[in-house]
Amino acid sequence: MSQTDALRRIALALDLAVRAHEGQRRRDGRREPFVNHVADVARRVSESPEADEVTLLAALLHDVVEKTPHGTDEIERIFGAEVAQVVAELTDDETLPRRQRHREQVARAPGMSPAARRVKLADKASKLAALAASPPRWWGQRKVERELREAGEVAAALRGADPNLEASFDREAEALARVLERNHGAS
Ligand code: ZN
Repeated sequence: MSQTDALRRIALALDLAVRAHEGQRRRDGRREPFVNHVADVARRVSESPEADEVTLLAALLHDVVEKTPHGTDEIERIFGAEVAQVVAELTDDETLPRRQRHREQVARAPGMSPAARRVKLADKASKLAALAASPPRWWGQRKVERELREAGEVAAALRGADPNLEASFDREAEALARVLERNHGAS
């Protein structure tokens, strides 16, 4: 595959993600467009020297099946079976209660493909960074603490996936822990 083909597919994935997530907002305090999260995850993944094209495409598409009407069959048709498989690995069953969804993420993590593990780590890092920058106004300190703890549990189950992305997750977790400590001191 030529480099131009790879760039074309990345542009195509970005375009699909922007259209699919149109109108959706992040749940952070600033209510950013949801697709900002997708771009942030792709940027984080791209910073790992070990991330290949499939990983980058999966990063751009990682929330499309979970949060929009698009299916893995469509992703397979456009981007191939490998990308569709990684996106499927990253798709949670949103009908399950939150705690059960979390437990399943932890249980599934060690068996995930290297590409899915990289995207998952970047996904968790991105969420913690958004919480540190601007926690949702209606969230109490406890809820942010729980998010941090649960993200750490998933990241621990993903260990060995990618040293760069693990280090970047750790930095975001520490930054959020510092914000929580500061707020704790202030209250
Ligand atoms: Zn995500």
